[in-house]
Amino acid sequence: MNLKFYGADKEVTGSCHCLEVNGKRILIDCGLQQGQDEKDNNALPFQAGMIDYVLVTHAHIDHSGKLPLLVRNGFQGKIYATGMTCKLLRIMLEDSAHIQEMEAQWKQRKHKRSGDEVDEPLYTIADAMKTFRYFNPCRYGQTIYLDEGVSARFIDAGHLLGSASIELTLTENQTTKVIVFSGDIGNYHQPIIRDPQYFHQADYVVMESTYGNRFHEETQDLVWELARVFDETLSRGGNVVIPSFAVGRTQELLYFIREMKERFLVKHNPNFLVYVDSPLAMEATKIYDGDLTGYADKATVEIINSGFRPICFPNLHLCKSVEESMALNEDTVPKVIISSSGMCEAGRIRHHLKHNLWRAECSVVFVGYQANGTLGRMLVNGAHDVKLFGERVVVNAQIHNFRGMSGHADKNGLLHWISEFENEPERVFVVHGEEEVADGFTAELRKMGINAFAPDFQAEYDLIQNRFLDMGVPASSLRTKIHKSGSVAYQRLQQVGDMMLEVIKHNEGGTNKDLGKFADQLLSLIQKWDR
Ligand SMILES: [Zn+2]
Repeated sequence: MNLKFYGADKEVTGSCHCLEVNGKRILIDCGLQQGQDEKDNNALPFQAGMIDYVLVTHAHIDHSGKLPLLVRNGFQGKIYATGMTCKLLRIMLEDSAHIQEMEAQWKQRKHKRSGDEVDEPLYTIADAMKTFRYFNPCRYGQTIYLDEGVSARFIDAGHLLGSASIELTLTENQTTKVIVFSGDIGNYHQPIIRDPQYFHQADYVVMESTYGNRFHEETQDLVWELARVFDETLSRGGNVVIPSFAVGRTQELLYFIREMKERFLVKHNPNFLVYVDSPLAMEATKIYDGDLTGYADKATVEIINSGFRPICFPNLHLCKSVEESMALNEDTVPKVIISSSGMCEAGRIRHHLKHNLWRAECSVVFVGYQANGTLGRMLVNGAHDVKLFGERVVVNAQIHNFRGMSGHADKNGLLHWISEFENEPERVFVVHGEEEVADGFTAELRKMGINAFAPDFQAEYDLIQNRFLDMGVPASSLRTKIHKSGSVAYQRLQQVGDMMLEVIKHNEGGTNKDLGKFADQLLSLIQKWDR
């Protein structure tokens, strides 16, 4: 009964963990690496055909984006996720495959000109479609019997519609262990979705640490504040441009705007126009506007039960075609434009920025985290001008940054989540955080007396023996390995060194005679090699 770490180890993307029990292999998430974590998405660190089951915590691409690659490489098992996650995965994986195809086409054109080898897409829309055949939708709270000695249960993680934390109960050779995977843990008081729910018992826990070093800003009255920016901008004759993630954040915004309209908060422009300009956001909005039974929070259910639609209101327009999108730039009527990508790195938002940033009467409103090095971060940091489509565009528009909106729990939320365990887990593995954050959060948990550890990529743990079999490879060295040849042997030595520290910990409480002997042997090794 082993656990292997195949992604999001001291990183924030590419979530993937593998359980081996009774000869079966179960993946928990199969995410794509993105941004600065991206190393080699082409390679799966295991044979796809050897995987029997995949349990998906939620639909975000950094947790699910390699599923079509898995299928392309011969996976024929079962994929379990909540019904809502399955629905969202259909649109998100198709969109991801579309991006892969477009990128490959672009590279192919470039490489043909230079005579280089032609790139294949990571996977195609056909691969994504094939993936859907393996879906097994499940409900929250339902116990799913996967295989002999293996059952699973999903509960609401409060991070994205349909998101889950997953508990697995594993029995091998009459020994039973319970392991909980947190998935991404949600923030409190988000619209539409519920607050995170908790597990209370586990032998092992694998938990995320994205904001393990951060406290979210208190949001006073977000709706009121947003309404004020809208009213001022529209009254000046400007547009409000909002870069937003297509799935989740966009629908939260629509929920807030419906509330604004109902409460007449945009006093001088009560009938303002709202355009959602992103094909993926449009598809996601249709899902959020559909049946939310079992997924929505109390307030949303009440709105639906009284015969209203939580994210729909007069003057809401969804743009699908490029022509509709382009027409927005010709039309001079002041309006709110919500478009993606959320960090302004790609997509239609870049066109809207080009047409609105230089206009002093317009506003750009950020409603999500802007990673280092992105156009969004540059704008938030007060860039005087930016480059868009090869053109210099001066920033005259007002830039607003609403930092309180987050889908992730902050440090307090994470500590609360782990403190809900009534027993003390044998070990807590800290994943899904940048190296410094994961290490810092691990240290914090240890101070609380929790046996926490932040594993490296490809580390392997024996869940019955409660010890590491392999310490894995540090993510940072994987990145440098590409550039530095000849360091593989040194990395191996480092791994063995880490293993040694683990073995020392396991010997705590041993007899004085054994400990003395162990120390003497180590000392002689050290004296031999310290040259
Ligand atoms: Zn997520």
